[in-house]
Amino acid sequence: MNKMPRANRELIRSINRSLLLNAIKSEGAVSRVGLVHMTGLSPATVTAITGQLIQENMIFEKNTGDSTGGRPPIMLALNPRGGFVIGIKLMEDHAVGALTDLNASILAKDTIELPDHQLESSVEALTTLVALLIKSSGIRKKQLMGVGIGLAGVVDFAHGVVKQNPFFGWKNIMLRDLLKSKMRVPVYIDNDVNTLTLSEKWLEPGLMEDNFIVITIGRGIGMGIVINGQIYRGKGGGAGELGHVMVDPDGPLCDCGKRGCLESLLGDRALVEQARKQIDPNIKNLDDLILKAENNSEAANILARAGKLLGGQIANLVSLFDPKLIIISGEGIRMGEVFFSAVHSTFNQHVMPGLAKDTEIRIDSWGDDIWALGAASLVIAEIFSSPIQKEESDAV
Ligand SMILES: [Zn+2]
Repeated sequence: MNKMPRANRELIRSINRSLLLNAIKSEGAVSRVGLVHMTGLSPATVTAITGQLIQENMIFEKNTGDSTGGRPPIMLALNPRGGFVIGIKLMEDHAVGALTDLNASILAKDTIELPDHQLESSVEALTTLVALLIKSSGIRKKQLMGVGIGLAGVVDFAHGVVKQNPFFGWKNIMLRDLLKSKMRVPVYIDNDVNTLTLSEKWLEPGLMEDNFIVITIGRGIGMGIVINGQIYRGKGGGAGELGHVMVDPDGPLCDCGKRGCLESLLGDRALVEQARKQIDPNIKNLDDLILKAENNSEAANILARAGKLLGGQIANLVSLFDPKLIIISGEGIRMGEVFFSAVHSTFNQHVMPGLAKDTEIRIDSWGDDIWALGAASLVIAEIFSSPIQKEESDAV
């Protein structure tokens, strides 16, 4: 007799469903018997849940696998077109969106200008962007499983609140629910560097359960932290504010109102400001500075000093977290060889002996697409996450 309360039965079913989906995703293709071995679930449970997943079009029966004799087993694989998601990166004056399948392959992308920084017009623009993407991809709206939005600042992912955004001046805005009521699909919001970090985790299966850190450099300096396969967001979404780590108590004033933050010395506006003062008042942006550095040693020194600062911080991070991999991404990676040779040499000089050996530092590609894909991964991660993980993130 089954006396288990209905809510518990549903919870267990939902945990098992996510267990099976993740097992199929990690294997590429696996038989039902293989799933029984991998998950420890009973054959009856595996048959029932995979049957439902096939009905929902989330998985499909693929060509048969290898057999040691007798009938070869039927393999199950994920159907990347079983659902679609939209990822949007909200920037200072525009938003970039991409509609992808569950493998994060892009079907459509688009950009929309923001008329101003008002909440209402921004919500309107984002809703229009979602409608444009659905239309140009040709999918039906009911196939859309959710919209992920990445934006700068402190974002409380669990409650869908933008606690603070440096570009828009927003404070404690319930952005997720506002967008949800307009778009009428599940919406998730997170700090943009966290969404980028999630996409690294989802696009490189070797990183699924690992410890790694993503650092973005550009106008701001951000960081995403993955511990044992889970994004670490802190108590209210504020973890990873590497840009506001203090490096010089008497340093320049930062956008956050404090002095001597890493960003006030290493952010691209800070570097351009230094170059204007020391070299040429006509230097307008980071590209001008990079060009100048090709044949001006003072300009090259500014980039090298910036590289030294970052290399030192990476050494600190490796001493604190001992990650397997550090990925450096963002618009600032175009600072190139002068910058990165200083990053590497300072890192090697300052990292705790013994910790550097197994840590890889990787320089990633960058671009608006990468950010939009990151936001799409936010939704994909939710589709695959178990209710236990959801409860853990809701509890913070
Ligand atoms: Zn600061």
